Amino acid sequence: MSAEITVTFDGRVRAVARGTIVRNVFESRLGRDIVAARVNGKLVDLSHPLEQDATVEAVAADSPDGLGVLRHSTAHLMAQAVQALYPGTQVTIGPTIEDGFFYDFAPPQPFTVDDLPAIERKMRELAKADLKIERIELPRDEALVAFEGMGEKYKVEIIHGIPDERVSIYRQGEWIDLCRGPHVPSTRYLNAFKLTSVAGAYWRGDEHNPMLSRIYGTAFPTKEALEEHLAMMELARQRDHRKIGREMGLFLFDPISPGQPFYLPKGMVVFNALIDYVRRLYRRYGFDEVITPQIYKNEMFHASGHWDNFRDNMFLTPDPEDHEAKVDTSPEGWRIGYGVKPMNCPGHTFVYRAEKRSYRDLPLRIAEFSRLHRAERSGALHGLTRARVMSQDDAHIFCTEEQIEDEVAMNLTMVGDVYSTLGFAQPEFKLATMPDQHLGTEAQWRMSEEKLASAMRRNEIVFQLNPKEGAFYGPKIEIYVPDALKRKWQVATIQLDYNLPERFDLTYTTSAGNDARPVMIHRAILGSVERFIGVLLEHTGGVLPFWLAPEQLRVLSLSEKTEAYASEVANLMRQHGFRASADLRNEKLGFKVREAELAKVPYMAVVGEREAAAQRVSLRLLRGEKSQVLTLEELLARAQAEPLPS
Ligand SMILES: [Zn+2]
Ligand SMILES: [Zn+2]
Repeated sequence: MSAEITVTFDGRVRAVARGTIVRNVFESRLGRDIVAARVNGKLVDLSHPLEQDATVEAVAADSPDGLGVLRHSTAHLMAQAVQALYPGTQVTIGPTIEDGFFYDFAPPQPFTVDDLPAIERKMRELAKADLKIERIELPRDEALVAFEGMGEKYKVEIIHGIPDERVSIYRQGEWIDLCRGPHVPSTRYLNAFKLTSVAGAYWRGDEHNPMLSRIYGTAFPTKEALEEHLAMMELARQRDHRKIGREMGLFLFDPISPGQPFYLPKGMVVFNALIDYVRRLYRRYGFDEVITPQIYKNEMFHASGHWDNFRDNMFLTPDPEDHEAKVDTSPEGWRIGYGVKPMNCPGHTFVYRAEKRSYRDLPLRIAEFSRLHRAERSGALHGLTRARVMSQDDAHIFCTEEQIEDEVAMNLTMVGDVYSTLGFAQPEFKLATMPDQHLGTEAQWRMSEEKLASAMRRNEIVFQLNPKEGAFYGPKIEIYVPDALKRKWQVATIQLDYNLPERFDLTYTTSAGNDARPVMIHRAILGSVERFIGVLLEHTGGVLPFWLAPEQLRVLSLSEKTEAYASEVANLMRQHGFRASADLRNEKLGFKVREAELAKVPYMAVVGEREAAAQRVSLRLLRGEKSQVLTLEELLARAQAEPLPS
């Protein structure tokens, strides 16, 4: 065997001695920003010896792989600190997750958040000590003896499950852990971490097993990156729509109906204002609104395909007139019972079929705000953004093949209107194309994809492809909006459908007098109104545009003597159609202002004796401008000048 091997690094090929350590190949490029390496594609420690010809890459701390190594090494550091501080604690597993890591422990007492500062202190102490992190490979039996001797029953169980003859352990100082690695070279690489929370978790996720104590944390290459992440997390926590919704008095949730909001009067104002806005657009763009039934015989869902593909997500109910009433969820169960609609589409085909349609009736645009119910799993529920009920600004357009492009282009214009009005910059567009499983020929698909693409080009929309992500019945345009926290939400969709008109045998008479199939376009702009409200609250932090604010003006009286005048001001604003109230409580002004701010009221009109005598108000704005003394006419004019949705 030759004593030399060939190593390719950074595009350069050279010979090095067999057994050379990877870090020596990196030479001058090696700083603490390099935490591991890839050798012939495999992720390894920097101390890995090169035994054969190899292509070597440096893994930077801020790359996805590098972050994984950094975070898993931080999980080890945490486990070392925990075992030093809490004798008798056993370790189990500690993987990385998105944005961080966790480690599950079996401690004598479950951990609480109060334990975290002490653990972090110990971690910093161990990091400063610059303990070398070493990989040791040994026969499986020896590892078993070692971990048995340490009383680490969970690790023993893990080793029993490993088929390999040799296993690896990692040592830092006196502490060892069974691990595949890789890891950073020493604990000093770990200087930007934070422990974030604790939770209970069953060993191997099985509720028959003992409950373990899980600690979550995160780590970054630099303190700046960590701070930025923590600030974003804090902002997301403050802006959680469930919290804002409570503070603003918009809606509540109760376990009596999981995943379904109770809209309170103020939430109803927001809900209705959004729907009124879309309704005005409907008049402008020629949509007709309908209400179709909420509950249908399951035979309709069988005809539409929902029974076969979606019944696990539907609320089913027996026939009330059947004495042996039951629900049959088997594939043939559609022959009995009823289902609550999860979508409006099949119902709208009945509206289409109500009359004999001719080409003169097309395009026929039918819209509906009905509530749809989907049996989302309780574990997946998340406030309004993942609920079991939703009202979509749903519409179906029945049109001829030739009309598709115009209709899609018009709906894209509506999308642009709505999102700029609601303060979302730059929606992103994707064209989802033919999936492997599809109806119809490839030629048909490419033609309809081209129609969608050309409608987007007409609206000067730059879009990306989302290959093979179309529905099985047709291609679709997906529209995403980025929010203030840089998260992207899919809201609107426009989908072509050749399938449902077929399944429900929809026809129209052509100008030549023949029968033809219409095409169906499904589209929603806000998407689920529930979900949209959730996104809007997190995007704006609850500071809604004036026209959407559930309470637009609150008059704050300074004393009992100004009560009558304060009521008069609120009344005047209400007379002019504004949503106004008066806070007449015998409380300090600062308290009243704080409460109005929490409720995100855009106008706070403060009235003391001076203002009352002069028939004026001192106007404070939620958006932090200085107070201004205005006459009542000026106050009214100012509110009337607030922009309305286009
Ligand atoms: Zn490990
Ligand atoms: Zn639809």
